[in-house]
Amino acid sequence: MLPLLIARDLLGRMGRASPPAELRPDRLDASAGLTVYVHLPFCASRCRYCGFNLSTDPRLVQRYLAALERELAQRAALPWQPAVEVTSVYLGGGTPSLLPAADLARVLAALRAHLTLRPGLQITLEANPESVDAEKLAACRAAGVSRVSLGVQSFDDACLERLGRRHRAAGALRALDALAEAGLREVSIDLMYGLPGQSARDLERDLARAVAAPVTHVSLFPLATLPGTTLGRHRPRAGRTRALWQLYALASRTLEAAGFEQYTSEDFTRSGVRCDYQMDTWRPPLRGCLGLGAGALSLAGGFLWHNGGPLEAYLDAPRPAGVLRGVRLSALQQRAAELYGALKCLRLEPRHLEGWGPVPLALRAAGLARAVPDRALELTPRGRFLVSLYWTRMILGKLAAVQER
Ligand code: SF4
Repeated sequence: MLPLLIARDLLGRMGRASPPAELRPDRLDASAGLTVYVHLPFCASRCRYCGFNLSTDPRLVQRYLAALERELAQRAALPWQPAVEVTSVYLGGGTPSLLPAADLARVLAALRAHLTLRPGLQITLEANPESVDAEKLAACRAAGVSRVSLGVQSFDDACLERLGRRHRAAGALRALDALAEAGLREVSIDLMYGLPGQSARDLERDLARAVAAPVTHVSLFPLATLPGTTLGRHRPRAGRTRALWQLYALASRTLEAAGFEQYTSEDFTRSGVRCDYQMDTWRPPLRGCLGLGAGALSLAGGFLWHNGGPLEAYLDAPRPAGVLRGVRLSALQQRAAELYGALKCLRLEPRHLEGWGPVPLALRAAGLARAVPDRALELTPRGRFLVSLYWTRMILGKLAAVQER
């Protein structure tokens, strides 16, 4: 998968290279619109597979929010604002739902004060089951949250225990009830496959509980363990990729049979409502993505950058206005990013394939894509799996790496 290899190379360079002088957000062209990702890196404890830059110290939250507001104010003062319209917002973590609703409302108010948010835009909140109740969720909804992505991962208590998750299946079901009580109708759950000790039968049981639950959307991820994490110390068994493919195929078939439509390599909807942040960020032509917070990546106007560094450094100096760590994308890398976006969204139009030589033929010959009308290609289930697997491993590893710098 050439575009994925180019993207991996790109992220690798970003961590190493000193930033080029022309890397300044005020010179970016984001006329196609922006998505906004806000990184809220606080968790109650660290899961055994997690290598993200996060804090379990709630005493840092207020300092972090103040730093976030400083970063936002300085970014908003740049010439690319306020002409750019924000089309979707994603509050990601960490565990954003760990914060009190008033703090989440404060973040959204700051975004509204400094950026031009499209009326009625989708605002997604990442949540974990143990940190939500109906009252908090209703307050989040009143503040503008319109969609929640709940980190269920599994409905199997033994799997959850092995992952070091704080919740159990009963807690996930209670959280789903609370979401319904709060009137939040667009509910996504994350499910993971390839978990330690998880059989195909276990995954089938998880999927059966997911489709029976009041959820409109499922995001499906392979367990990607990072070196340095508790689970990352175990070497993957030989044949793991093949085993993961079989689990992915099982999950895709099951979700489709239950009325879910797959629209990215990881995402399935049965209400027709998609994750706007994912689609706005990755569906070509690519919009800009503005990442705010200690570890968020931004991609806009031919540049890829991040604040980077340890969380404590961000608290003192969020480095927003000047030259950041990052890279200017070459023409080839920009085309690779577009092609990757098309791969992630499962459909390659002729314009995405121009200039890639034998790549389209190779994708078809390998059974990763098939021809559809209008000279387009559509990814086969195997192609979707490979895009999902490589991207999940690559982005998790690189995000953890750049956040440490
Ligand atoms: S996996 Fe998610 S919930 Fe667990 S520690 Fe990492 S960011 Fe927090």
